[in-house]
Amino acid sequence: MKTNLLGLDAAGLSGFFAALGEKPFRARQVLKWLHQSGQGDFAAMSDLAKGLREKLAEKACVEAPRIVGDTLAGDGTRKWLLKVDGANAVEAVYIPETGRATLCISSQAGCVLDCAFCSTGKQGFNRNLTTAEIVGQLWLAQRIVDTRISNVVFMGMGEPMLNLDNVIPALRLMLDDNAYGLSRRRVTVSTAGVVPGMDRLRDECPVALAVSLHAPNDALRDRLVPINRKYPLDELVAACNRYLEKAPRDFITFEYVMLDGVNDSDANAREAAALAGRVRCKYNLIPFNPFPRSGFRRSDDERIRRFAAILQNAGVTVTTRKTRGDDIAAACGQLAGDVADRTRRSGRRAIALKEARA
Ligand code: SAH
Repeated sequence: MKTNLLGLDAAGLSGFFAALGEKPFRARQVLKWLHQSGQGDFAAMSDLAKGLREKLAEKACVEAPRIVGDTLAGDGTRKWLLKVDGANAVEAVYIPETGRATLCISSQAGCVLDCAFCSTGKQGFNRNLTTAEIVGQLWLAQRIVDTRISNVVFMGMGEPMLNLDNVIPALRLMLDDNAYGLSRRRVTVSTAGVVPGMDRLRDECPVALAVSLHAPNDALRDRLVPINRKYPLDELVAACNRYLEKAPRDFITFEYVMLDGVNDSDANAREAAALAGRVRCKYNLIPFNPFPRSGFRRSDDERIRRFAAILQNAGVTVTTRKTRGDDIAAACGQLAGDVADRTRRSGRRAIALKEARA
């Protein structure tokens, strides 16, 4: 079995070279080749001795997911479908903007959390992505696009806090000056509110944090984001405040998907404003992106403006996310990839539907 070097952070690579009886500084050289130059061919690593290059070709490989789909949206957003094994594919989305270029990446094939309005959740869960598969998304994208990717958001498929063993080494590579050298403030992990994961990330590798809030009270959040039944709002808010002690930014981003007639009333806006009194945060309103049989509608623009105004008048910072790439189903919550569901969620759903009809 060859070692996939894309999955090793600086410490991992040093260990790998030590085991080969090589000097630890080889790790730095190889990191630069792999991640700064996007080089995947050992033979081209010209500052390594020929013997070492041959040894690497024998013991190691550089393997990213395979691109099986590549779609460009009218607004420049680009979505790749990436095959990670025989049965599963995930998606990554490149979002160019003036002054920055963001890559949205996946951390799992599918997701166990089953949020009511999310198409990834509807597919069920297959497995965690490896570090190489997570970093590989950035490695591939940066080899393809001309612009330097300045921001990474873990807002693709999956719940990153349920895969921290692989996410944390991937984060370390993203932050490493010998690799991608991204600022901690420009790498954002997004969570539906997995409290123990938030604490671990805070202790091991704090980066910017986004929390998928979506509802300002427990009754509604229990319905929309079922993990809330395990970690209700009081615990979530406390975890946010603990996170802020170590975070590179002095606020948490609360993502709030705008669902017509479900969570978008004036009263909900006032509750959301009250919540902002308990933790330093900014709200990011996300117009709901529809997908087949979702059962939800997007709040209209006027409603979103009014919701935002109530927050603003209460002194809360709020932005409304511009919908990007929705013509190619690359927008938030539309990423579905191709997941061999082990939880048989879609099967259970079909049975439930059948029983309901009978
Ligand atoms: N599991 C993590 C990472 C996924 S991030 C999390 O929940 O934060 C994806 C973001 O898009 C989340 O904020 C998610 O709630 C939101 N989202 C999901 N489905 C959506 C939809 N149909 N329209 C708009 N946003 C959606």
